[in-house]
Amino acid sequence: MLDILRRGLTELGLDAAKAEPLEAFARLVLERNRVMNLTAITDDADFARLHLLDSAALLAVTDFDGKRAIDVGTGAGFPGVPLRILRERADITLLDGTGKRVDFLREACQTLGLSGVDAVHARAEEYAAAHRESFDIAASRAVAPLPALCELCLPLDKTGGQHLAMKCVDSDAELDNAKRAIETLGGELNRVEDYTIPTSGIKHRVIVIGKVKPTPKQYPRAYGQIKKKPL
Ligand code: SAM
Repeated sequence: MLDILRRGLTELGLDAAKAEPLEAFARLVLERNRVMNLTAITDDADFARLHLLDSAALLAVTDFDGKRAIDVGTGAGFPGVPLRILRERADITLLDGTGKRVDFLREACQTLGLSGVDAVHARAEEYAAAHRESFDIAASRAVAPLPALCELCLPLDKTGGQHLAMKCVDSDAELDNAKRAIETLGGELNRVEDYTIPTSGIKHRVIVIGKVKPTPKQYPRAYGQIKKKPL
């Protein structure tokens, strides 16, 4: 795993010495994965590429240095934990609706000595009530279809902030379906960046949505509504 991480980080222009703490986090996830469901990816090389380097690739899209960011639906900590390991001055909130995953993340961050990380057990649509318009960046991977995801993430962004939606490259139709939601929620499609996960040849995509005006107060709605009647 270390060799793949070092090569991948170098390809991304990042500090190859961060391979060690990234691997240490991987070991904690894989160890806990034996007793709870954290990830289906258990092969070392796949873990390095599909979790760690995929998360790291976000830094080629936007620099998290000095930013207040939230990872919505972080699960086992992706992309938020690798981003925090790679950007010591980023202030990162890891948000998930599953308490056991959040407990694991708190423990893991403590074991790794990572400060500047807040692991929060809450549903995004409820968390927004007290934390709307608070973050420079809301990032998210594999959580919900884009129209619903925008309703969970854009209310959390400050005006001038960004929502980074990590998607597969076959997401053109999903993006088309989300155009109305993006506009309604105060967003504007900024760009779509396809990238190759270093050392893998696998292509993924980041949809970058800028927050251009405050989200109307009635959003986000309760999740049942978001799901049943997507914007
Ligand atoms: N982002 C991680 C990744 O890419 O490996 C985890 C993806 S996992 C498929 C989706 C995660 O999103 C789950 O841990 C789930 O609990 C969380 N989730 C889904 N909807 C949510 C919501 N409305 N609020 C908070 N967490 C949510």
